[in-house]
Amino acid sequence: MVEALPYWWEAAPPPTPPQRALARRCDVVIIGAGYTGLSAGLTLARAGRSVQIFDRQRPGEGASTRNGGIASGNLRPSYKQMQRKFGGARALALLAEAKAAREELAAFIERENIDCDFRRAGRFTGAAKPSEYEGLAREADHLRETLGIEAHAVSKAEQRGVLGTDFYHGGLLRDDIGGLHPAKFFAGLFRAAGTAGAMVHGETAVLSFAAKGRGFAVETARGTVEAEHVIVATNGYTDAVDPWLRRRLVPVRSRIIATAPLSNNLMAELMPKGVMCAETRKLHYYYRPSPDGTRILFGGRDGSIAGDPTWPTQHLRRALADIFPVLEGVAITHSWWGHVAMNRDMIPRIFSRDQLRYAVGYCGSGVVWARWAGQKAAWQILDDDRARSALDFRPPPAIPLYNGTTWFLPAVYTWLGLRDRIGRYRTSP
Ligand SMILES: Cc1cc2nc3c(=O)[nH]c(=O)nc-3n(C[C@H](O)[C@H](O)[C@H](O)COP(=O)(O)OP(=O)(O)OC[C@H]3O[C@@H](n4cnc5c(N)ncnc54)[C@H](O)[C@@H]3O)c2cc1C
Repeated sequence: MVEALPYWWEAAPPPTPPQRALARRCDVVIIGAGYTGLSAGLTLARAGRSVQIFDRQRPGEGASTRNGGIASGNLRPSYKQMQRKFGGARALALLAEAKAAREELAAFIERENIDCDFRRAGRFTGAAKPSEYEGLAREADHLRETLGIEAHAVSKAEQRGVLGTDFYHGGLLRDDIGGLHPAKFFAGLFRAAGTAGAMVHGETAVLSFAAKGRGFAVETARGTVEAEHVIVATNGYTDAVDPWLRRRLVPVRSRIIATAPLSNNLMAELMPKGVMCAETRKLHYYYRPSPDGTRILFGGRDGSIAGDPTWPTQHLRRALADIFPVLEGVAITHSWWGHVAMNRDMIPRIFSRDQLRYAVGYCGSGVVWARWAGQKAAWQILDDDRARSALDFRPPPAIPLYNGTTWFLPAVYTWLGLRDRIGRYRTSP
């Protein structure tokens, strides 16, 4: 039997705080109690604001306790693509902010004394094609020269010293990225926000919100609350409460499988440096060792529509064995999924609309970005100088012919998968 709940929940299940009476008025209502909402709530509560955070599920039950725990602060477009689209200054500012956000996450974990197995283990990005190795080597030079990030190319001949596979044509190893236990990290954030005075109302959906006087009336499943400010922090779980946002964010199912414990020798052969892993394929996979170094956690897209876990689990198992043939037939103990939120230009965002504040759209890299963006949104409300951010620009554009039903995803997956297969066919001997 493969367990359908996240592996992470064995050590840190989402909390079930007792249902407290709602305060009828507060300074700020936050919709969504994941990393974004709690980080915003923590910042506001510490600044003396009254805050209520609502989640229709248990706090953290969205992506924040389900993810791979790779603390990358990734930006999906390359520097060149961002430069073309937003100009050189913003492209550089985004890269610099990603670096600051990664460093600040590590400092935050230490400052708040959060026990979440955080380790800056490094990240290897494998080149799926020989030509992509050249691109990764140039990226390493760029990261070193412009941002002072320790990054270097790893040739195919050196690859097994980093990752026990011949699947890739070399890759990029950077030292500034690490991994953590996402649900333990969430538990630490939840504790800190509560201690600071933020009220977190789990299993209490926000049903609607509307401008009222100088603020908002927010209707929830347990009554109406008035607040001066509202922050929307619903990311991949955005529902009909905000149809405007729904047209701008595409929820994409991501699934992770956990292998049964592997022997020390095998883990040392497959993951000798314990690094986080990514790759250049269009439909890429992400993977890592479990924090205790005994298993491999392997993630990728889940193209199922009805949610049947059987074939997406088998698909991930096959993809894992493509990279590590020795794992053909390995036992899988857990297989679970959650929603990541993509947007049209694939840049995480903080923005305002009609006095509502939004922090959303992390494109699968919210471990670093969500906490950072939530804090920035809070600083905007507090009129704090630290609120400035390269993520703060126009809202992501609406997606044509889209209102929340992802009818186009199967076609997108087929197209991207085909391009990956053609790329591999052309480069295979
Ligand atoms: C399988 C998977 C693997 C991932 N791996 C990584 C990784 O390795 N590294 C990385 O950086 N990122 C990863 N991510 C992405 C990362 O988890 C997210 O970007 C991050 O958790 C987003 O946090 P959030 O607080 O914005 O949203 P969430 O944690 O998703 O929280 C949003 C909350 O809003 C609530 N909500 C929605 N509508 C309402 C409403 N009307 N009323 C009340 N509440 C509402 C939902 O219930 C939900 O709990 C992964 C995600 C998934 C699913």
